[in-house]
Amino acid sequence: MKTKQSRKQRTCDECGTSIEKGDQYAQRSRRLGESGLVSYDGTVKHWEPYYVRFPICGPCAEEG
Ligand SMILES: [Zn+2]
Repeated sequence: MKTKQSRKQRTCDECGTSIEKGDQYAQRSRRLGESGLVSYDGTVKHWEPYYVRFPICGPCAEEG
């Protein structure tokens, strides 16, 4: 996985290690929610799943 230099302190989502400013880290996107359709009062609502990016540390990025 491609890593880049962190500009701030973060916490690895994989192992909980803190990623210090200047450390290499990667970002993994994870899908939250599902896409769907719902009919409500004659109105059809449609939504898309959304993605959130989580920081992961260098070693975890290597393994993953
Ligand atoms: Zn990690």
